[in-house]
Amino acid sequence: MSGRSVLITGGNRGIGRAIAEKFIADGDKVAVTTRNGDAPEGALGVAADVTDAASIDEAFTTVEKEHGPVEVLVANAGITRDTLLLRMSEDDFTDVVDTNLTGAFRVLKRASKGMLKMRRGRVVLISSVVGLYGSPGQINYSSSKAGLVGMARSLTRELGGRGITANVVAPGFVRSDMTDALDEDTQKKYLASIPAGRFAETDEVAQVVRWLSSDEAAYISGAVIPVDGGLGMGH
Ligand code: NDP
Repeated sequence: MSGRSVLITGGNRGIGRAIAEKFIADGDKVAVTTRNGDAPEGALGVAADVTDAASIDEAFTTVEKEHGPVEVLVANAGITRDTLLLRMSEDDFTDVVDTNLTGAFRVLKRASKGMLKMRRGRVVLISSVVGLYGSPGQINYSSSKAGLVGMARSLTRELGGRGITANVVAPGFVRSDMTDALDEDTQKKYLASIPAGRFAETDEVAQVVRWLSSDEAAYISGAVIPVDGGLGMGH
C-alpha cells in the first residue's frame, strides 16, 4: 500500500501535519499544501490557497510531476469565524464556507480527473462533530462541515463504481491551534461534555484517516466516522 501519491490540504500544522506524518511513515509520497510555515520532513510542500482555484491547479500540476497523479486526497484545510447569528456578517458566513466547503470542492474536482483515469482513489474530508451536532456561535462552520457529508455521499454515488471511495472524518475537540484559541472557561465546558473526559490528540485523527485510505477500507464509502470520544454519539 505504500508509494502512493497523497495530497493533504493545510499540512503545515495541526491535524493536517499529523496526517501527513502518518502517510510519510508508511512510505507514501506525500505532498501538503501550505500558505505559511513548512511542510513536515519528508513531504513536498506546495503553496496553495484552497479559496483560489488557480493556485490549486498549479499545486496539483507540481504534485503530478513529482509524485504522479493524486491517489489519496485529504481535504483538511479549515477555518472558524465564530460569533452568534445576530452578529454574524454575510462575509463571516461565506468566507468560512468558501474555505471549508467550496475549498474541498475545488481540490476534489481537480483530483477526480487523475483518479478517474487510474480508476482508483481515496477521498477523506475532514468535517467536525459540530456539522451534525450543531454548536451555538458556529452557524457558518457547522453548515460548512455538514455540507461535506453531502459531498462525500454524492461523490460515492457518482464515482463509487470507478474504484473511488469518499468518506468523512468528524473529529470532536482536538488539541491544536484551533482549540488552543478557545478561552479556558469554554475549554472546561466542552471537556465536561465529552464522555472520554479529554480532548483528542492530532495523531488519533490521523490514524483513522490513514485506515480509511487503506485497502482494508475499500468497501467503506459515504461513511461519517466520528473521532470524538463519544461527544456526538447517535447523531
Ligand atoms: P489549525 O487551525 O491548526 O490548521 C488549519 C490548517 O488549515 C492550517 O494548515 C491552515 O493553513 C489551513 N488553511 C486554512 N485556510 C486555508 C486556505 N484558505 N487555504 C489553504 N490552507 C488553509 O486547525 P486544525 O488542525 O485543528 O484543523 C484541521 C481541520 O480539522 C479543519 O478543517 C478543522 O475544521 C477540522 N477540525 C478541527 C477540530 C479541532 O478540535 N481542532 C475539531 C473538528 C474538526 P495556515 O497555517 O496557512 O493558516
